[in-house]
Amino acid sequence: NEPVLEIRKLRVDYGLGDEAVHAVREVDLTLHRGEVLGLAGESGSGKSTLAYGLTRLLPPPGVISGGEVIYHPADGPPVDVLSLDPAGLRAFRWAETSIVFQGAMNSLNPVHKVSTQLLDVIRAHEPRSTAAGRRARARELLRLVGIAADRLDSYPHQLSGGMRQRVMIAMALALEPQVVIMDEPTTALDVVMQRQILGQLAELRDRLGFAVLFITHDLSLLVEFSDRIAIMYGGRIVEEAPAGELYRRALHPYTDGLLHSFPALRGPRRELTGIPGSPPDLRAMPTGCAFHPRCPRAFTPCAAELPPLGPPGDDAPERAVACWLHPAAAPVPR
Ligand code: ATP
Ligand code: MG
Repeated sequence: NEPVLEIRKLRVDYGLGDEAVHAVREVDLTLHRGEVLGLAGESGSGKSTLAYGLTRLLPPPGVISGGEVIYHPADGPPVDVLSLDPAGLRAFRWAETSIVFQGAMNSLNPVHKVSTQLLDVIRAHEPRSTAAGRRARARELLRLVGIAADRLDSYPHQLSGGMRQRVMIAMALALEPQVVIMDEPTTALDVVMQRQILGQLAELRDRLGFAVLFITHDLSLLVEFSDRIAIMYGGRIVEEAPAGELYRRALHPYTDGLLHSFPALRGPRRELTGIPGSPPDLRAMPTGCAFHPRCPRAFTPCAAELPPLGPPGDDAPERAVACWLHPAAAPVPR
């Protein structure tokens, strides 16, 4: 499967010098054409920072302090995203990669009708289109995301949160992007809405073929709707696997903890357990594996040496894990 977005050794800091908080630490992650890749991890693990970093939308004092982001357009040579000039960046963000950020549904302009905002985006993308053509396209886009065309003339406050979120997706799709990034809020109340949104995105992906990077804390949702899942902890990817394999057998104890801190997809609702302890303080990271102070299976090398992310060695070529329990990933140092 061909890559559409390659993140290589990406580092993102908040602040400079001794003050810097290393929020994303040498992240390697590849999004393939047409796949739904889920990114999960506890609050503060760096998921949003990664998404903002790779689209170069980091708010100050965020700075990219290393690494590469390579985008592969449908045709033409690869694009080095981190060295794009402002014009190139605008084109990349709009036409190639659409982003719907945490709380984006509140970014619709309250004083304009949905139609006005959607038509503006279509006009920007297709400047030579006719007014009638744009209206037809707007209706088609709303239908794609499951909103009746007669909602076109609503104001944002007349729509539910879920509908506003779907309008945002329609606006993102207006540009026919290769990549759609969604960063979902972490509040538990939004789980039902997230489920609808991700289900719908996966369906649209089947029809339109774009790739999706979906960020959430809800791993059970990802198991259900994504092709692959990456797990983030303390600014690093600690495990990556096809969704089904990850669900059947988590290799990293942190992934295992996350899987068991959510209710089962089917069957009786279980008690939520959660992972004992709290996420690491980025200003005072534990030595070795950042998870070792909370890990029920920590042993000798874990506090001493950072485990590299790599294939676990058994017959699981599509998986990667950063854990000393899987020594085939790399020899334990002597
Ligand atoms: P959530 O699930 O809560 O959205 P997240 O995984 O998206 O969490 P980020 O928002 O990327 O996490 O934050 C990663 C780390 O960077 C956190 O420890 C956070 O405290 C830190 N951080 C975020 N923004 C800033 C900032 N402006 N200045 C300093 N540190 C920041
Ligand atoms: Mg976030």
